[in-house]
Amino acid sequence: MTRGAIPATIIPGDGIGPEIMATVSQILDALRAPFDWDTRQAGLAGIEQCGDPLPPATLDSIRRTGLALKGPLTTPIGGGYRSVNVRLREEFQLFANVRPARTLVPGGRFDNIDLVLIRENLEGLYVGFEHYISIGGDTHAVALGSGLNTRAECRRISEFAFEYALKHRRKKVTIVHKANVLKALTGLFLETARDVAQRYAGRLEIDDKIVDNCAMQLVLNPWQFDLIVTTNLFGDILSDEIAGLVGGLGMTPGANIGEKAAIFEAVHGSAPDIAGQGIANPTALLLAAALMLDHVGCPDQADRLRSALTATLTEDNIKTRDLGGSASTEKFAHAVIKRLS
Ligand code: NAD
Repeated sequence: MTRGAIPATIIPGDGIGPEIMATVSQILDALRAPFDWDTRQAGLAGIEQCGDPLPPATLDSIRRTGLALKGPLTTPIGGGYRSVNVRLREEFQLFANVRPARTLVPGGRFDNIDLVLIRENLEGLYVGFEHYISIGGDTHAVALGSGLNTRAECRRISEFAFEYALKHRRKKVTIVHKANVLKALTGLFLETARDVAQRYAGRLEIDDKIVDNCAMQLVLNPWQFDLIVTTNLFGDILSDEIAGLVGGLGMTPGANIGEKAAIFEAVHGSAPDIAGQGIANPTALLLAAALMLDHVGCPDQADRLRSALTATLTEDNIKTRDLGGSASTEKFAHAVIKRLS
């Protein structure tokens, strides 16, 4: 693959986004990654430059490239703005959220963690069909919410998860649900996922767990899990719990995958408390870039990047402050580049 052969959109984002994205671009250049970047804005930067948190030019760019690396975006509170991340998922029908979590820095509370959570990204209770009912002058007397799951989407995410498991040599898939209480909403998910699972019997170990038990088992014995597939809201919660097993959100990348586009990002937010100080940890965004390299068929470069990152953190012991080190973002980047050369 020649350098610059693959068009891709880059969205620096807000807060620490531009700092860590600049670092990641520098490291991807050193890696000679094959991307031809088109830089676009979103979030607060989108509002400032184009009056829109998701400017049409940014959407057009992703429509053209079908591929984006996105920094964290600040969603303004109030002002009627919807989450830009949710809008992007809907716009590009990014139905699968993939969050791999692997121990990079040993010696934490849990060692040797290596598991993947695949979350349905468009349906469930996350659709936000909700409203209040006013009684006797109390406008918030009752809150009502409904979820929505379709068999088609349950099938699509299940097939995606089982295929992902085979492709990435995973051994076991756990279907996570709450079908004992939400009998229709997550019952349909369980029924469909079990149906799809039959086609993979003999090639993968398959089981299912109720979400509350799964949450407890993840802290009692996380090594029993390999790949979890679940609905939108449960995936949202469990993936943060899983991030906690490997040192927190700063160490966890995410991929949002659709039929026509894929957007890669760090799981953490824009960290306004440390923005502009040059101390942010670019690891999660670098790991997101590695997932992007895997996605475009450059697994060797992805592995080189992950190895350089691991060597910097563990052998060179160069870490940013959030990991207990003292390195600046710049010093960390230089160390990773040195490991790549
Ligand atoms: P956050 O993830 O931005 O920060 C939580 C804590 O983790 C802070 O103390 C921060 O300093 C630290 N932190 C996060 N990333 C770090 C990094 N790379 N290096 C070092 N420390 C890091 O969460 P928050 O404060 O709840 O949210 C801030 C803003 O980010 C909000 O506007 C929120 O809407 C947005 N957000 C965006 C995304 C996204 O775009 N994917 C995700 C979550 C939150």
